[in-house]
This record gives sequence, structure tokens and C-alpha cells, in this order.
Amino acid sequence: MEGSQWPYENRSGQVQSMEADVLVLGGGVAGCMAAYSAARQGKKVLLVEKGAAKRSGAGGSGCDHWESAATNPCSTVSPEELLKAMMDDNDGYNNAISHYIECREGWDALLDIERMGGKIRDTEDEFKGAAFRDDETKLMFAYDYKSRITLRIWGTTFKPAMEAACRKAGVQVVDRVMATSLLTEDGRAGARCIGATGVHTRTGEFYVFRAKAVIMAMSRPARVWLFSSGHPGLCEFRPLQCAGDGHAMGWRAGAEFNMMEKSVRAEFSAAGRSFPPYSTGNNHNTWYAASLIDATGREIPYADRDGRILKDVASRYQPVEGQDFFLKGGAITQAKYEIEGPETLPYEELQKQGYKLPFYADLSNLPELERKVIWGMMVGQEGKTQVPVYRHFTEAGFDPERHVLQCYGVGWTSAEFLPQERQLFGLPGGFMNDWDLMTNLPGLFVAGDALFASDCYGHAAATGSYAGRKAAAYAGKQAAFIEPCGDQIEQEKRRVYAPLTADPAQGASWKELNEAIAKAMQNYCGEQKRDELLLSGVELLERYEREIVPKAYAANPHELTRLLEVFDILTVAQVILQACLARRQSCGKLEFVRSDGDGAEPAPFICIRQEGGKVFRREVPLDYAGDVKANYEKHNRDYIEEKGAAV
Ligand SMILES: Cc1cc2nc3c(=O)[nH]c(=O)nc-3n(C[C@H](O)[C@H](O)[C@H](O)COP(=O)(O)OP(=O)(O)OC[C@H]3O[C@@H](n4cnc5c(N)ncnc54)[C@H](O)[C@@H]3O)c2cc1C
Repeated sequence: MEGSQWPYENRSGQVQSMEADVLVLGGGVAGCMAAYSAARQGKKVLLVEKGAAKRSGAGGSGCDHWESAATNPCSTVSPEELLKAMMDDNDGYNNAISHYIECREGWDALLDIERMGGKIRDTEDEFKGAAFRDDETKLMFAYDYKSRITLRIWGTTFKPAMEAACRKAGVQVVDRVMATSLLTEDGRAGARCIGATGVHTRTGEFYVFRAKAVIMAMSRPARVWLFSSGHPGLCEFRPLQCAGDGHAMGWRAGAEFNMMEKSVRAEFSAAGRSFPPYSTGNNHNTWYAASLIDATGREIPYADRDGRILKDVASRYQPVEGQDFFLKGGAITQAKYEIEGPETLPYEELQKQGYKLPFYADLSNLPELERKVIWGMMVGQEGKTQVPVYRHFTEAGFDPERHVLQCYGVGWTSAEFLPQERQLFGLPGGFMNDWDLMTNLPGLFVAGDALFASDCYGHAAATGSYAGRKAAAYAGKQAAFIEPCGDQIEQEKRRVYAPLTADPAQGASWKELNEAIAKAMQNYCGEQKRDELLLSGVELLERYEREIVPKAYAANPHELTRLLEVFDILTVAQVILQACLARRQSCGKLEFVRSDGDGAEPAPFICIRQEGGKVFRREVPLDYAGDVKANYEKHNRDYIEEKGAAV
């Protein structure tokens, strides 16, 4: 860094030590809620965030709907019914514990966010009289207006309110520090977690955090198969800084992972191939249930989940005959779809009927409040859309009463991808958890998108609050801090700083290495899996580790952060290959195709972890959570009593 134009003080090599009862890694939705909840239990809490917690993470810029608020006063669905639908929809390959917590406590978490200053009701009566509004509570619902389990909310107000509430509750927020490793008792993999290390993304200062309990809330991996050096920020749906550091740290420390063999064909904003999320016409998610028209202006018939054509707009928001309720438009439902995409007929059928591409989303023919709630509210509140889509399109003259927005696919998709272009999306793998949301490492808790089979804001907020409570209770039982192992810290310091002293003429940059990993994963871990392919991938990535990583070069702390992320992506890619090797048969719900399988029944959950470089595999029954209601109540007596007393 000597002589460079770097605008911040250079503190590389200097060490800052901090300690807390509860250390939260990642200041996104789950991390903020976890920190707040642990602080409310009277614990000293540190919240470490790579960016700035006020707006960081997938939920930092907003969100437009809150799923699974089963206990909100207008819901007609119980937490048990909702969880059953989620489990059935995935043939059991889902996280019953974390999603039950979401169904049971999601509404409580939303009320906490409202108390912090987030907006969850139509207090200005802007949508008074709308079919999706309850005039008494002023709550507004999305998708399924009958069951009223999904709420429309003003998500852009949430993160700043959460961050401010954390500070007010006494949480020490450490922004711009990238957590790099977990510290374990005696430096052993698989031992109790006693802290973490980090590096400042601007000054390069090294951090050592000691704690009695640690919460992992650093979201999930990305850019494993998809990377475009020209559009790094648009590579994937979730933000650039969420790259899977937590998974890599956990793996190195001996944590156990579940479902890491699951990947789906890319479907959302990846590698610069599609436009920014929600900036193109479709009738899905934020744009549910917009009408589509074809190139000649002819309206495309709107189909229900069974392919029946709906006659009016109102019925798009009602469950069909034989269906009790549905969740997000198109993505999850209580019963499985029999046709591709519920909102239109399959493209081949439309083509036969003479409909012509391109298609457009047309809000002009929707009832006024339905149009206004999509364009004015949801597109304005959804993650990443307030400025680039809502504001910029409006400034450019887009008027939803007169203009239409082009679809860049044939329905709700916004781009077509190849089978080997994959993503960890739609309930992907992650940390394995027990009923305390603790991992196999004593003292290491996990929340939000870092959990296996996770998704959504409500899930992140509810599991964050829950993990905060459980970690606080665990910390309360520990007598003293455990001194970290000096060798473990020194080794991590050497690893972290190596790229700053590498030879710029010889070393690969973060972008080159990310591109190489993505190509390797497309080649050897694409849609079709077989041992020969997977083992070639293992060998190639080991070569990257031996030959490219030691020479990789970073000119300043920013490049260092990006490079350390890509080192973590490399580790995650290796974990995925190991998980794929561990599953011997195809499994439809995991989108896992083994062309050398023997046709036997797919195994249940397959969890893997490493110790001393050796991978250990364990099969876990799909129903390992047991009776969710009974087990939840057994583990949360205090919380239930506290809530009951508050009513
Ligand atoms: C565009 C978009 C729209 C969405 N819309 C909705 C919606 O309308 N409704 C809904 O329910 N869900 C929505 N989601 C999903 C939802 O936002 C996520 O599920 C939720 O934010 C997950 O919370 P989390 O805390 O686990 O992860 P995040 O909120 O992403 O937070 C993870 C945090 O960890 C930090 N971090 C990462 N690595 C490190 C490190 N090494 N050291 C320190 N910190 C680190 C990151 O900077 C980040 O702040 C949307 C997601 C996106 C991307």
C-alpha cells in the first residue's frame, strides 16, 4: 500500500481487541434483530458488519412483502398449517425448526420493528377501501387476500429503524469490519466457539473479538457459478458483500452444513445477463397480479394454478377450488402447480393461440388501487428498487396508467439461463441447527439466510430475535471468557495479510480468481452430477488453492476485502463439491441430478463437516425437528409466558 492514493489511514498489522457476552457477525436483518434481542436480555453485545448496518444486506434497501405472518390478527391460517404447507411443498427438504419459528414469531418480530419506527400500516389511509386492506388494523395484504398471511409493508423504513434501535439498546455497532474467521477453544475445529477475527475494510486493521456466545448472521454464498467482471454488482440477486464468508469460516472451524448439494438453475439477475430486479415487466412477486399483453396489445389470459382462465382481476387474489391458501404468487403454494407458472399458460400454448413476443406488463387495466399499490408502493419499497426503478423510471416519464413495461422472457422470468449456470437460491443449503438455533459448535448460533433452507425477511427477523435470546441465555451460563489460542490468531493474520505483500506482476486479482472458480463449477458441478466430474472439480479447485491463492494480490484494504471474499467463495465451492459427492442418488426437490445414481430412493438430509481436512458425512431424518409445536413450546416456556403476560 506504500505510496498509493488510498484515502484512509493505513493500520494494517495493528490489532484491536474487543469483547462482549454476545458477538453478532453480520448486521443485516437477522443480525440487527439478534443483537437487539440479546441486548434486551441485558447482555453486552457487539455487532460486526462488513458494510454499514444502517443499510447493509439484502433487506437494507427495502422489502415489499412480509411472508408468513400467521399470527397477525387478520390471518386465517395457523402456524402449524402454514409450516405443514411449507414442508409438503418441499417433500420435507426444508428447515422445520427455523420456519416454525418464522410462522410462530414472525408477526412478533414485525411488531418489534414497528415499535422501532418501521412502517407496517397504511396510517395515512392512502388505500382505504381496497380489497387488500383491513380498515380496522390498517394492515395491507398481498397475493392471497383470503388467508391474509402475507403483508405489504414499507420495507425501506425498516433497516435504519433497526440499526438505531440497536444503538439505543446499547449494542456496540462495529461497521466496515469483515469477519474472517471463527475462534475456537484451543484453536480446534469442532470445539466451542469463543470469538472471531476481522479486518477493517478501509484501514486494514486486524480485530480480535472474544465472546461467550457468537451468532452467525452473514447470509448465504453467491457468485459460485456466476460471475461477470464487467457487472460484479449485478452478478446475483443478493448484494455483492454477501458472498458466503460465514459458510467458509464455519466450514474451516468444523461447523456442520445441510443441503449444500442443492443448487437451482439461475433464474434471477445474474452475471449481468438480466436487468436489475423488478425493472422489467412480469406478473410475479412485486408485480403480482399484473396483466400481461402481447406485442399487438392483446391481453394474455390469466391462468390459475390449474391452468383455468380467470375471468376477472379479483379472482387472481383468491385460492382456487381445493386450495386452502397460497403464499407468494407463483413461487410457493399450499398445493403443487400442475402447469408451468400459474399466471399465464405455458408459452408454447400462447404461441399456438397467436400471441406474439415481446410481452409487456400492463398496469393500466387494473383497478386503480391495485395499480397504485404495485407501482407506487411495492416497486417503491422492494429491495434495490426505490431509486433505480421507481424514482428513475418516474423521472424518465413512466406513467403506469399509460405506459407498459417490456418483459424480457415469456412470463415472469426476466432472462433465460443455461443448465450449468446455477445459484444457491430458493431454500438453499446452509448451517445445520438444533432447537436453540445452535450449530454443532457449542456457543455458535445461526440466524437468517445463513441457516439451511432459509429465505425471506420475516424468517430472518424472527430467527434473528430467537437466536439473540438463546445466545444471551447461553452466555449467561458461561462463567468467564476463554482466552483465544495465540497460534490460531497468528495463522489467520498471516492468511489475511498475505495478498498485500504479494507480487502484483505475478498475482491474480479477485475478479480473475472469481471468474476461474465460476467456470470450474459450471464445468464440473453443473446440472448433471457424476463422480468423475465432481472429482475433477475437487482436483482443479485444490490446484487453485495451491497455485493461485498464495500469489493473489491486493493493492489496498478494499481489494483485500474483495479477495478474501473470493477465497471464501473458493472454500464454499469445495464444500458444495463435497456435498454433491456425499449424495449418491438424484433428488427432485434438491434439484440434484446424479447421472451415475443407481435409481434407489433419495437419502434424507445429508450433513457434512470437516475436521483436519477429512470430510465427515451424516444422514439425518427429514423429520428430525419432531413435533414442532410441542418442541417449540418445550424450548420457549419463558417467551410464551412473557408474551402471554404482555397481552
Ligand atoms: C432485491 C431483494 C428483494 C427482496 N425482497 C424481499 C421481500 O420483499 N420480502 C422478503 O421476505 N424477503 C425479501 N428478500 C430477502 C430478504 O431480504 C433476505 O432473506 C433477508 O435480508 C436475509 O437476512 P439476513 O440477515 O440473513 O441477510 P442480510 O440481510 O443480507 O444480511 C447479511 C449481512 O451480513 C453482512 N456480512 C456478510 N459477510 C460479512 C462478513 N464477512 N463480516 C461482517 N459482515 C458480513 C452483510 O454485509 C449483510 O449486512 C429480498 C432480497 C433481495 C436481494
